[in-house]
Amino acid sequence: MYEVTVSAHFDSAHYLREYHGRCENLHGHRWQVEASVRSNKLNQIGLALDFTELKKALRETVAQLDHVCLNDLPEFSNINPSSENIASAIFEKVTKRLHEQGLDFTIYSIKVYESPDAWVTYYGAC
Ligand SMILES: [Zn+2]
Repeated sequence: MYEVTVSAHFDSAHYLREYHGRCENLHGHRWQVEASVRSNKLNQIGLALDFTELKKALRETVAQLDHVCLNDLPEFSNINPSSENIASAIFEKVTKRLHEQGLDFTIYSIKVYESPDAWVTYYGAC
């Protein structure tokens, strides 16, 4: 089994509704994101998935989250832009982009680092 991973980051603001603590106030993060796919197979030139294709899908996805207040985005109007919800949203969007790029891959995991020592990993719905 091969696991191919690329990373990207975005800078944005958020606040957590109904949270009692510092995170209920508007604040910013540099969110680091890692996207991984898994494959048992390699293509004829020895690649599971071209890094370039995965980077394109991830970068185009996180570009839409960069330099905004995440709470203002439609996908977070009814749910908190927590690291957990950001990870699942990125999971769905990157998988959709891969399919649009003609690649038959589903993301295996998305890691979202809110800081260098705190992150969430989402593996898709079980
Ligand atoms: Zn935060």
